[in-house]
Amino acid sequence: MDELKMVDPELADIIKEEEKRQSQNIELIASENFVSKAVMEAAGSVLTNKYAEGYPGRRYYGGCEVIDKAEKLAIKRAKELFGAEHVNVQPHSGSQANQAVYFSQIPLGGTILAMDLTHGGHLTHGSPVNMSGDYYNFIHYGVTKDEEIINYEQVRNLAEEHEPDMIVAGASAYPRVINFKRFKKIADDVGALFMVDMAHIAGLIAADLHPNPVLYADFVTTTTHKTLRGTRGGMILCREKYAKAVDKAIFPGIQGGPLMHIIAAKAVSFKEALSDEFLDYQQQIINNARRLAEEIKSYGMRLVSGGTDNHLILIDLTNMKITGKEAEEALDKVGITVNKNTIPFETKSPFVTSGIRIGTPAVTTIGMKEEDMGKIAEFIFEALKNLDDEEKLKDIKKEVHTFSAQFMD
Ligand SMILES: *Cc1c(COP(=O)(O)O)cnc(C)c1O
Repeated sequence: MDELKMVDPELADIIKEEEKRQSQNIELIASENFVSKAVMEAAGSVLTNKYAEGYPGRRYYGGCEVIDKAEKLAIKRAKELFGAEHVNVQPHSGSQANQAVYFSQIPLGGTILAMDLTHGGHLTHGSPVNMSGDYYNFIHYGVTKDEEIINYEQVRNLAEEHEPDMIVAGASAYPRVINFKRFKKIADDVGALFMVDMAHIAGLIAADLHPNPVLYADFVTTTTHKTLRGTRGGMILCREKYAKAVDKAIFPGIQGGPLMHIIAAKAVSFKEALSDEFLDYQQQIINNARRLAEEIKSYGMRLVSGGTDNHLILIDLTNMKITGKEAEEALDKVGITVNKNTIPFETKSPFVTSGIRIGTPAVTTIGMKEEDMGKIAEFIFEALKNLDDEEKLKDIKKEVHTFSAQFMD
């Protein structure tokens, strides 16, 4: 950072300020994590200087013999991690991974069956404000009203009625195990392709703590920066027979030159994910989430589906008579970072919402264990209960910072 401080002190200060924010606050955004210094080193390396349109051994630029090794290493490790036949590590983000798979297989206007956004799906699963919803005819399934688990009956009925070209499983805000085998059976019965977007749960899958979609799906897309704890980015895994189409869809289909420094950083994170420490880390994420769910429930707060099987928890704030927006703001004031989130059968706008989504990947990375979850639940409850009491919120913030200081290295 010395060089940056000299060249651009203004920006250097911004980074310092953000560094402080990240280390002082309790980070509960379910899709965020803290990468290792090794991952950051690779991401901040000279590999950012290299143009490498194309794929290893088939580039449109000279001088790619070294960076080819980096991309091959990332691919080899990703294959080992998930047991995939083919891997493309070039997607700049999870959104682009999804876009490329659709683009590679589905004609404009084609029909895709995916999870409703308000029930836990993702914007790129056919939201009207996303390109996916504009270019394709998305049909949506959701969760059941009583148990709030995926309504597999509804998936089957909609699949039989609409005969989609593709069925998509995967979510951004679904706290339960997803039954990929059941989805695959439905897809086969109606002759649809099957894609799984494992963005949120890729780390759990790498550690064998969630069923592996690669066994069932034609395509598996993911981000690399959530539970997987790599750099911000995306990836596609697919069957060998779709390899050419997927690669073409990424480049030259929707992207230009790959971000080689980011691909290198992905390789580093995959090496980390192959270690025994990573398995322990993923188990701890789940243990922490379970405990946090129990602690939160003990304050009388309602959890969507009653609890969690994975890294995330959805709190329905309806019975506390506050909105997700109000909760997010109050928690920000005390140094706890969460995001407002719609809940199944939502009645409020996505800017207001009835819930918040929290997750344990980031706090687990900094070393929190089950016994720390009670404190977090208490902070959350106290902040929400004293939403309008600025003085009280200030006091809680002090406590939060004292608590989180224990985990700073
Ligand atoms: C986060 C996420 C994405 C998108 O990832 P970006 O890298 O933000 O584009 C796609 N699908 C799901 C299910 C996600 O949770």
